[in-house]
Amino acid sequence: MTTSRPWWVCEKCKATIGAGDGYVTITDAETGGYPRRPTPDDLPLNEAGKARAAAAEAAGQRFVTHRLDDFDDTPDAIAFKALHRSCDPHPAGSDYWIGVENVPTFESWIAIALHVGEKVWMGKHDLRRMIGFWYANRGLEDPSV
Ligand SMILES: [Zn+2]
Repeated sequence: MTTSRPWWVCEKCKATIGAGDGYVTITDAETGGYPRRPTPDDLPLNEAGKARAAAAEAAGQRFVTHRLDDFDDTPDAIAFKALHRSCDPHPAGSDYWIGVENVPTFESWIAIALHVGEKVWMGKHDLRRMIGFWYANRGLEDPSV
């Protein structure tokens, strides 16, 4: 697995984005504008999760180990995109953006992720997805999957 490809790929035209030609945007997934709120850290239990919790309680278990499919699918509140300036449908938008020239390496992407992770609108799922966006944008397999 390689993580050192320095280039970003434009979501719209699929071409490489050169320094000064584009950015990675972080937006509110619903409005496309500046991020407003994080994806909830604690997702609600679905019926299967509630049933598992009830069965564990009835069996006198003190803790319940849930699986990912025990939780509701909650839409992501934060969206990530890489775009050329010329491909951005809203170039004057109010999204949070990072010029690709500022994040040429995985190390620099992690540094930005740690910085952005301090924002009140970034939850733990969003931070994890932001790190994973490096892999996704390059067509690489997310190492956590
Ligand atoms: Zn493009």
